[in-house]
Amino acid sequence: MVFEHRSAMSRNGSLLKQMLRYLSWPLVFFSGLLGSSFAFASGHPMSVFAAVYAAAVFVLFVLERYIPYERSWLLSDGETANDIGHTLATKGLLQLAGLIAAVFPMYAANILQPLAALKFGLWPSEWPMTVQVALAVVIAEFGLYWSHRIAHEKLFFWRFHALHHSVVRLWVINTGRFHVADSLFKIVMSQIPLYCLGAPLEVFWWLGAVTAFMGILTHCNVDMRTGLFDFVFSTPRLHRWHHSKDLREGNMNYGENVVVWDLVFGTYYNPNRPSSTDIGIKGEIAKGFVGQLAQPFTKKGIREILGRSKGSS
Ligand SMILES: [Zn+2]
Ligand SMILES: [Zn+2]
Repeated sequence: MVFEHRSAMSRNGSLLKQMLRYLSWPLVFFSGLLGSSFAFASGHPMSVFAAVYAAAVFVLFVLERYIPYERSWLLSDGETANDIGHTLATKGLLQLAGLIAAVFPMYAANILQPLAALKFGLWPSEWPMTVQVALAVVIAEFGLYWSHRIAHEKLFFWRFHALHHSVVRLWVINTGRFHVADSLFKIVMSQIPLYCLGAPLEVFWWLGAVTAFMGILTHCNVDMRTGLFDFVFSTPRLHRWHHSKDLREGNMNYGENVVVWDLVFGTYYNPNRPSSTDIGIKGEIAKGFVGQLAQPFTKKGIREILGRSKGSS
């Protein structure tokens, strides 16, 4: 009896796990967006949004333990404090960028007076907000795609981006592990076109929300089955290939939110097998937080990042 009871429980358990594998991606993403819509309509949009985001991180943290993609990635790599440090540094910068986003169009309109009328009348503000946000995501993605691809293909930029790829495990906490310079480059490349088109502040908020939830999803260590979503969005499955040590797999899937530009420019990669768990870089990243920030600015640091320090060619 006890045995039967147990096997029924494990059957139910595995059914629940199987359902969660299929449902967790859309559930986290779309409830994140639903939470964002409440946040943006509330009196305290930023703090309510932060609470929704924290709840999503918590849900993924629990799912990582219930249905992990790679069990060994649950073990500490000693980088947790640095991951959080870089996240805070990067997010702080994003806050600042948000503030600039609020005032920049006004200043720019004053300075670029003769051009302003031409430039700021282009955005289709009368379209439904969902369509405006979809348009903004695709336009911003063009900048995100190229800044990311350049960061991989040009050594000058790789020295900053290598920090993100130096992790040997993926989990929700290392989503924000970006060098501040790397993040700044991405923000400039992705947001300037939207400023120039005159997109309203609300569109920037939504773009931030989409990017935030997509980011924690692409890096989480949850065994998610994303099926057709793989052809529209940057899913955990696609992004794990991007973190592969094998550059034939790693120099692919540059999309941050959507994969449209990977499809257009031929870097979409989604072979029919489980995505790689052998991730990381051949170079070496400094140990401490400050060391990691400073490393791309010294000759010795760059040599280490590129894996050209003593002994190797
Ligand atoms: Zn990358
Ligand atoms: Zn990544």
